[in-house]
Amino acid sequence: MVRKVSIFGSTGSIGCNTVDLILRHPDSYDVVVLTGGRNVTLLAQQAKATGAGLAVTAFEDCYDPLAEALEGSGIEIAAGPDALIEAADRPADWIMSAIVGAAGLAPGLHALRHGTTLALANKESLVTAGPLMLFEAKKHGATIIPVDSEHSAIFQALVGEDINAVERIVITASGGAFRDWSLDRLKTATLEQASNHPNWDMGQRITIDSASLFNKAMELIETKEFFGVHPDQIEAVIHPQSLVHALVGFTDGGLMAHLGPPDMRHAIGYALHWPDRRHVPVDRLDLVQIGQLEFRAADPDRYPALALSRFVMQTGGLSGAAFNGAKEAALNAFIAGNIGFLEMARVVEGVLEQIDAENGHNSAMITLDNVVQMDHLARNSAAEIIRKIAR
Ligand code: NDP
Repeated sequence: MVRKVSIFGSTGSIGCNTVDLILRHPDSYDVVVLTGGRNVTLLAQQAKATGAGLAVTAFEDCYDPLAEALEGSGIEIAAGPDALIEAADRPADWIMSAIVGAAGLAPGLHALRHGTTLALANKESLVTAGPLMLFEAKKHGATIIPVDSEHSAIFQALVGEDINAVERIVITASGGAFRDWSLDRLKTATLEQASNHPNWDMGQRITIDSASLFNKAMELIETKEFFGVHPDQIEAVIHPQSLVHALVGFTDGGLMAHLGPPDMRHAIGYALHWPDRRHVPVDRLDLVQIGQLEFRAADPDRYPALALSRFVMQTGGLSGAAFNGAKEAALNAFIAGNIGFLEMARVVEGVLEQIDAENGHNSAMITLDNVVQMDHLARNSAAEIIRKIAR
């Protein structure tokens, strides 16, 4: 049976891996929509290679270059945030949500309203609006399959299990680029150094978030939202090899671990073929060659992002939207060279404190409008703090 599929964020790291898997079995898929941002050359190439019906760039000023690159192809084109929403309304059996940042939330929500199967890589959706995503999925009979490797691992470990029999969930963190650096040395970390991940090949923003453990902080929140467990049941440990992605502990003391190579095509392939398992072209682990698996505690002094995520998990409401907006603003400021690596956590902490004192985080309902409003508030508050500490 040919499945209709769409890929939001096809030009990114997750998107390219998804296109790679689709192109290995082109007769099995009818590609409805591909979306990208500024990389219109790649978007046009992918659209031609997959025979996509529609190619959308998120930016209106990229319309002309995209039109030029696709001239004569017969592929429909569109541009801008509204075009992304309209593209999400196009019927598809399976949709990959792999736009980076809060911009991924609205298209994913729209896709859920059509009862689709949503492969969810965009972690900001669950962090900013987890209850809304789950509500919409339930209301419209849609299915969300997590694509983040840790959440895919938990999802797989829970097949056939009762969530009430879960005692704890452990997600692993590689520790990123700076896992062996001292706190003093971390103060001097540069953008170039933070952008090199020892194990995974990912987009730049998530690579930097891996070094600061903001990525892990997001994943703790995602775990609470998606699996509905209490924050005290979720922990993160450093596992430098990135082979064990997560473990689920049950009431009988058993611990189910999920192992796989650090290659996102495993989790993407699982989500693509779910509920079946099919061949996915990733390396197979050689356990004897690996020899030993290493785990260590995550040092809270070096990774303040983890404590901030605990605050968000306990506070709930719109605190996830505030956390994410502040984190994105702080990351932009680090990338622009305006603040240091450790100052990103200071900015997020300042924003959470300020918003909590002024508005409270959980006073408003989690609707798309309220999430967007909180995101703006957090970014403005972050901008003020960044101005004060900018070098
Ligand atoms: P990338 O930065 O590699 O790609 C992001 C995609 O989003 C690109 O297609 C980009 O377009 C597009 N994009 C950028 N800005 C906008 C915008 N404002 N509106 C719409 N589209 C936009 O990201 P990743 O693939 O690394 O990550 C995607 C998501 O998946 C993130 O939420 C990330 O946290 C999550 N994730 C990623 C993993 C990974 O291994 N990379 C693992 C687990 C989760 P263009 O490049 O053309 O500008």
